Amino acid sequence: MKKMQNTLLKWYEIFGRHELPWRNTNDIYHIYLSEIMLQQTQVNRVRDEYYPQFLEKFPTLKALADAPLDEVLASWSGLGYYSRARNLHKTAILSKDGLPDCPKALEKLPGIGQYTASAICSFGYHQNIPVVDTNIARVMKRYFALETSTNDLIWKKADEFLNHKDSRDHNLALMDLGSLICLPKNPKCDICPLQEVCLGKDEPEIYTKTKKKEYENLELFYGVLIQNNQIALTPSTGKMYKKMLELPIVDPIDENFLGSFKHSYTKYRLTVNLYKLDSFDGDIVWTHLDKLDTSPVSSLTKKAKKFFN
Ligand code: SF4
Repeated sequence: MKKMQNTLLKWYEIFGRHELPWRNTNDIYHIYLSEIMLQQTQVNRVRDEYYPQFLEKFPTLKALADAPLDEVLASWSGLGYYSRARNLHKTAILSKDGLPDCPKALEKLPGIGQYTASAICSFGYHQNIPVVDTNIARVMKRYFALETSTNDLIWKKADEFLNHKDSRDHNLALMDLGSLICLPKNPKCDICPLQEVCLGKDEPEIYTKTKKKEYENLELFYGVLIQNNQIALTPSTGKMYKKMLELPIVDPIDENFLGSFKHSYTKYRLTVNLYKLDSFDGDIVWTHLDKLDTSPVSSLTKKAKKFFN
């Protein structure tokens, strides 16, 4: 076990993603923010497009807690899964003086689960504990050839394999190994530092068969009402874009059709149809067209802009 732990750390020293900004800070809030952003968004997009901008706007947990929710949602626009931003804001309000340093206490906060709590404690507070995300789970299942694996068993195996001399780097190394080498399809076993003792290397994919994702097709109908360079938006009532603004929902109509486009959101494959309106009978938040990009609207609404700008 020790030999493999050392081999893994040596591999990490050379090939690990040390340049990621949240790996070069001890600021717990920055680490926490990166973990929330990375939950459903690719590393490169978080690193290049969202993490630096968000921190510029909300540099501390207190600044985030003091900001109005619509500003937070506006900064989150484009990242999707907006419940993450709402929970981030709630957690900031509940923890103005700092995030707790105990996984169980962290898990009581909105939007923080077992993985995020452990990641904060391992990467931020340098605690000697295992971390299991989807990448590490895949490595554990294959390394230990776990044919049937419960969440508890995978965490137990990660704990068994933990390098207590350098647990933070060990966890980061496993994470990178999962995302760079032990890939879901066609893992690169021939260059893997764990290949010598990996029990699953002969048929790695049988330990990590995943169900094919199922998508739901939906058709949406929105109205576009513009007066004096201001566009009518309405507070979203749906679960998808809760507490955000969106174009008014209308019934499908035969006239004033502006166009349609495709959009993907979580498990939904959406066809969005737009219609020009002369009036709208409902709650309206008039928003200047120039301010649309900095308002709490989804990327769907921003995408619709090309039909009326
Ligand atoms: S040897 Fe292959 S299956 Fe085993 S951990 Fe490495 S990449 Fe994954």
